[in-house]
Amino acid sequence: MKTHNYSAGPSILPQDTVKNTAAALINFADTGLSLMEVSHRSKEFVAVMNEAREMFKILLDIPDGYQVLFLGGGASTQFFHIPYNLMEKKSAYLNTGAWANKAMKEAKLFGEVVEVASSKDKMYNYIPKNFEVPQDVDYFHITTNNTIYGTEIKEDKDYGVPLVADMSSDIFSRPVDVSKYDLIYGGAQKNLAPAGVTFVIVKEDALGKVSRELPTMVDYRTHIAKDSMFNTPPVVPVYAALMTLKWIKAMGGVGEMQKINEEKAAILYDEIERNKLFRPTVELKEDRSLMNICFIMNDEYKELEKDFFDFATLHGMSGLKGHRSVGGFRASTYNALPKASVIALVDCMKEFEAKH
Ligand code: PMP
Repeated sequence: MKTHNYSAGPSILPQDTVKNTAAALINFADTGLSLMEVSHRSKEFVAVMNEAREMFKILLDIPDGYQVLFLGGGASTQFFHIPYNLMEKKSAYLNTGAWANKAMKEAKLFGEVVEVASSKDKMYNYIPKNFEVPQDVDYFHITTNNTIYGTEIKEDKDYGVPLVADMSSDIFSRPVDVSKYDLIYGGAQKNLAPAGVTFVIVKEDALGKVSRELPTMVDYRTHIAKDSMFNTPPVVPVYAALMTLKWIKAMGGVGEMQKINEEKAAILYDEIERNKLFRPTVELKEDRSLMNICFIMNDEYKELEKDFFDFATLHGMSGLKGHRSVGGFRASTYNALPKASVIALVDCMKEFEAKH
């Protein structure tokens, strides 16, 4: 039996991705060479890069005027690339947790940063509502899925200013109205590929407006002009990403992903609410993430936390430990996590309850 993998990231990938990438590491596109050994400028790899970009556009129904980039550096590098490219004087950020804070910290190097609202008062266990975004900012930044706390913004809203979103941990989990955003970015290591590649979807019209000089590698226009091949791209993760994109397409696309993700999340949240031992950390249903489901022991059963963790581990479950800042458990239910793994966890929770 394969271990059930609830890790928050790097995390479970489709078996097709793992197997096809493993095969390409031995013999890539019948070249007789490993994917690790070929030039990124070979016609075989250029075809992979082009197809991966095209699949992004098709699966997310990306309108004309946007470019898809595959870069290095992780989402954390985008925390400063974004203000570098888009912020002349002032930007606004929604503070929904650690990643939003890290993004804000970098933006402060470039000018004034307005924190429009924060859920810090309750350990980020909700999405702030009814805030106003100043209309004189260069952009407003949100983190759609807060991997650590299990909260998620699941709709694409209009805030009256250019919108930038970190979708590291929920990209391809649902259809996205890309036209609402000037820029969407994320690390690949949750729903897409192994760590090493970062995706950026950017509206071309949003670029070239800042007065500062940009280092070549920081300027998105460099990478647009060279089709993400200005320098050597992370070829293995890009190949794996293409395999995942093909898998998503074969599964029926992001609409189908959303349906399955909603079903999986409902099964687990229902059990967390029903089971006397546990409770969810995110109270408001509308704020609950479909990707990272956080739960803790009810107060009267607190001392059973380690026992449940050990019990789940014995039952072949991996990656269930909650982030150290939240505690308890976090089951990440990314696209590639089969419904059977969610059911296995629910069964495990029921069995453990019956013992106590
Ligand atoms: N944003 C979010 C929402 C994340 O979950 C993470 C990583 N867990 C990051 C940013 C940072 O990504 P990276 O490690 O690729 O820099």
